[in-house]
Amino acid sequence: AMTRTVLEFKNVTKIFGSKRRGSTEVTAIKDVSFAIKEGEIVSIIGPSGCGKSTCLNLGSGLDPVTAGEVYVDGERVTKPNSHVAFMLQKDLLLPWRTIRKNVELGLEIQHSSIDRSARAIDLLNKCHLTGFIDHYPHELSGGMRQRAALARTLAVNPSVLLMDEPFSALDAQTKMVLQQDLGKTLAETGKTALFITHDLVEAIALSDRVLVMSQRPGTIIEEIIIDIPDRDNPMQRRKHARVGPYVGQLMDLLHIGETEDA
Ligand code: ADP
Ligand code: MG
Repeated sequence: AMTRTVLEFKNVTKIFGSKRRGSTEVTAIKDVSFAIKEGEIVSIIGPSGCGKSTCLNLGSGLDPVTAGEVYVDGERVTKPNSHVAFMLQKDLLLPWRTIRKNVELGLEIQHSSIDRSARAIDLLNKCHLTGFIDHYPHELSGGMRQRAALARTLAVNPSVLLMDEPFSALDAQTKMVLQQDLGKTLAETGKTALFITHDLVEAIALSDRVLVMSQRPGTIIEEIIIDIPDRDNPMQRRKHARVGPYVGQLMDLLHIGETEDA
């Protein structure tokens, strides 16, 4: 069966101009092309400053491309739109609303006519927050807040989720639990996602494919297909024997450790 492309970058270049006198332009990414099909989870890894966040900002329509095109659901992205949901490291939950009311917020903004409360409760249950639905963000742990933010993101039913290192501020154990939640929830909902991380194992555990970017100006130098079963179970995947070799392959592509004295 044909699977449709949800997110596509066609020869995308982004140059940041400088308004300061004497400073030069920065080519953040150069000629980046990739396509993500419905239901796929794709990660981008690359050295710091190579243009990963730039890619997501362009995908979300928050920032314009310098050259090339970005398409979501076959439509050219030129401004923020409801097809794309953006999840950041910081959860940005409103402190004066319960998490149910936070999840309902996106639906209120969309003037959605569905039963907002029922939808919010359903998603909070799916994100394992049963029992905390009418709590305020400050009453939850960092991990729970992040799950509430995921529920809110899913509430508006976006075609694609863009996630910029959403777990990087969390401790290792919380991170694994959230990866598991994310993997399960994305599988259950059939969502498409583009995920940025600097954690190689995280990328391998969660993704169908990993795109590797070069140093700035960022280009895609390699695509690694993650051939490990149970994509809906990142916790299980972490223990798989092929994780080590994939980590090695990614380290080599990123030149990690090459200049280090052994
Ligand atoms: P990454 O997320 O991979 O660490 P970024 O996409 O944040 O990298 O940044 C890529 C490059 O573009 C960096 O050199 C950064 O300094 C530059 N850059 C990012 N945003 C801007 C901006 N708004 N104005 C000027 N330069 C920027
Ligand atoms: Mg970044």
